[in-house]
Amino acid sequence: MKKRTLLSTVAAGAMALSLAACAGGTGSTGGGEGDGDGGLIGVAMPTKSSERWIADGDALVASLEEAGFSVDLQFAEDDIPTQVSQIENMITKGAEALIIASIDGTTLTQVLQDAADAGIPVIAYDRLIRESENVDYYATFDNFLVGQQQAWTLLNGLGLTDLEGNALPDAPAGPFNIELFAGSLDDNNAFFFFNGAMDVLQPLIDDGTLVVKSGQTEIEQAATLRWDGEVAQSRMEDLLTANYSDGSKVNAVLSPYDGLSRGIISALTDAGYAVGTDFPIISGQDAEVDSVKAILSGEQYATIFKDTRELAKVAAGMAQALLEGSEPEVNDTETYDNGVKVVPSYLLGPVPVVKENVEEALVDTGYWTAEELGL
Ligand code: BGC
Repeated sequence: MKKRTLLSTVAAGAMALSLAACAGGTGSTGGGEGDGDGGLIGVAMPTKSSERWIADGDALVASLEEAGFSVDLQFAEDDIPTQVSQIENMITKGAEALIIASIDGTTLTQVLQDAADAGIPVIAYDRLIRESENVDYYATFDNFLVGQQQAWTLLNGLGLTDLEGNALPDAPAGPFNIELFAGSLDDNNAFFFFNGAMDVLQPLIDDGTLVVKSGQTEIEQAATLRWDGEVAQSRMEDLLTANYSDGSKVNAVLSPYDGLSRGIISALTDAGYAVGTDFPIISGQDAEVDSVKAILSGEQYATIFKDTRELAKVAAGMAQALLEGSEPEVNDTETYDNGVKVVPSYLLGPVPVVKENVEEALVDTGYWTAEELGL
């Protein structure tokens, strides 16, 4: 049933062995090439600088090896040419399928054409790969909902709504000062997160409940190249200097990712904001350990938990189905247009986490241990 012949699999295996013997390899983890006989799957992750991608890589290796595959897992340290050459290597090694979380969703067109020419199916992992017809399936979370949830957590922290956006009785009238951050513009998800958040926040900006003193409400103004926390920190410093030197305070900050939230928190702390007196409500995403600790200590108000173990299972299941010649399960065939086609997708549900449900959402599910969170 497999698309590729036994011969190519054997040849690929031999090549993989000899390549492995040449040692080195950029960023190959302990996962390396396992001894599953179901064929080799190439897994390309963007960077190890964020915990979530390490967790994703580990979870993918576990799921794929359990299904009998061997895995070539690579991290590209957010360098686009590195990611392209890693994927090229996977094709050369005879990978039977590719699972790719891209750095820049538009830069893989040529290498994906090479994959297609070799008959290798491609699954976009968490981030949509754009401008290529050679993306077969997409495994991700409901990214628009992530953005809405981020906004609702801010409104919840301000006392305006619950975590699903329902108005609370006796909500304060405001106005509240808010500043907005977005992710990296080369990541399709950044637009879904920001649009989801603005779907919730814009009406409140329009009616004056929320005030963006900087006036920077466009995604291009709020964006953070490569999701870099230091870039967010220095933009927050600039926003404070330019707009809050008159003694006014920022009350909330929309942040789409925990790594940015930590940079934003540093800028606020350096500017004299203190937990328990005037610290703003700050959102996040990914439930990274340091940020969950920051939620427990009151510096960050919330994060969005996306269970990478579940995402890995979905993506591994897609690869397995494709290699067995069956149709992967999808639950969305409309939302994710990559500029060339709508990519059939499976969307998982994100979970907002605030201090009150840290234990239930993250410890009881086994994502982090109580010790890891210092509980
Ligand atoms: C992912 C987020 C992550 C961000 C930065 C996005 O594509 O969906 O979970 O926070 O990249 O790594």
